[in-house]
Amino acid sequence: MSSFGLFVGVAFPFVATILGVPPRITLRPDFFAGALFAGVIVGSVNFGLVRLVVGARLHLLSRRMEYVSTTLRDTTFAADSISCSPDTCQLSVDSKDELGDVAQSFNRLLDSLHSSWTTEAAIRSVAGSVAGHLALDELVITILDQYIARASASAGAVIVERDGVLSVAAQRSLVGDIIGDTRVLQDALRSPAITSIAVLSGVAIDAIVVSFVPRGVLVIPLWFGGQALGAVVLAFANNVDPGVARLLEGFQPSTSVALNNALMYERFQRLAALDPLTDVYNRRFGLNRLNEEFVRSTRTGSPLGILSLDIDHFKDVNDTYGHLAGDRILRSAASIMRSSVRAGDVVIRTGGEEFTVVIPGAGFNDVRSLGERIRRSIQLERVDIGSDEISVTVSIGGLSYYGTELRDPEELLAKADQCMYASKQSGRNKLTMIHTHELVSD
Ligand code: GH3
Ligand code: MG
Ligand code: MG
Repeated sequence: MSSFGLFVGVAFPFVATILGVPPRITLRPDFFAGALFAGVIVGSVNFGLVRLVVGARLHLLSRRMEYVSTTLRDTTFAADSISCSPDTCQLSVDSKDELGDVAQSFNRLLDSLHSSWTTEAAIRSVAGSVAGHLALDELVITILDQYIARASASAGAVIVERDGVLSVAAQRSLVGDIIGDTRVLQDALRSPAITSIAVLSGVAIDAIVVSFVPRGVLVIPLWFGGQALGAVVLAFANNVDPGVARLLEGFQPSTSVALNNALMYERFQRLAALDPLTDVYNRRFGLNRLNEEFVRSTRTGSPLGILSLDIDHFKDVNDTYGHLAGDRILRSAASIMRSSVRAGDVVIRTGGEEFTVVIPGAGFNDVRSLGERIRRSIQLERVDIGSDEISVTVSIGGLSYYGTELRDPEELLAKADQCMYASKQSGRNKLTMIHTHELVSD
């Protein structure tokens, strides 16, 4: 800029001459020197002004850019939020010229960066939380809590689809029959896109004292491998922020993978634990559960009830009506046992037509009344096998064990079997019980 002033100083006498000032004045050494001096002074003042006004602001811009870049680099892998407030990062827009425009553009760039960074951090955090759960009941609660918190929703539920049937797997502050309006949910599940629905009929937000209809409902489908696994339903007390759906879209991939893994895990656990014909525990898994209950009972001194059941003359059923009819009888008997016991009791298919029921906490009378109930229900049940209706009976042995007489659960099982054989020998369709004090270890 000083050089430009020098150039103007040198050129000025000649320009003045061209413009008609007599050369005797313009080409005089003192005029020349004066023009040169004035040119340098103007150039230097300009330079100083530019440095003072523009330079200071460009310097601030460069410092802020440097700060933002360092902060971004340092926080890229950190889980927490970026430490960039308007004071530390933004530029003040204090003029309406190009410098003001630059400051404004910089601030807008910063806003976009900040919002994309926080979105990415939220997606990473949700992915991390859901990846830590394989058990379905824990996972769905984690998903729901994360979605409600991140979307600032008032209530919500997680719906899971199994064999085309929807069920509520988790629910928070949402009352009413969530899957009653199946058509709306089924429609929303047809594609992975988030659906906003005005109201889900019959569903309200539970606000402790009163319940009220949500202002908006979002259904976020969870898809994996081209099919719907379920959905997160969020209900909002206030109008839904338009940016929320985009944020939730970011959560969908990791949540869907986690839900798929949990459903697979649940399926494999079922396959590993249940007998496919009767849907009760198989021998291997059931005897493990018996072992656990035996150890617990020995440690705490609480009673452990056990029933051993064997269908009477079952071979004759197979021989007379065929194997398929026999299978039906087995399923029906197992279903009666399942529906007769309480949650926490364990029904095991220990052999072909042999079952064991483990009843933690059951005393002698509890075991006897449950055994009698099952015996009577099976006797009364008529199983339709096409042209005929057939019924069977069971012989049962039972006991309630508390003490330390027996070394392991196999002995317990053997004692219950002995009682069951006693029922067989005394005419079948009977329950034989043994008292704890009659149990003697060899
Ligand atoms: P008891 O009254 O003495 O117990 O006589 P039972 O005929 O019930 O006893 P047995 O041990 O002689 O016969 C058991 C039959 O159970 C033989 C076997 O074919 C049948 N069985 C075992 N598993 C299955 C199965 O999964 N399906 C069918 N249909 N039959 C089975
Ligand atoms: Mg048998
Ligand atoms: Mg039998």
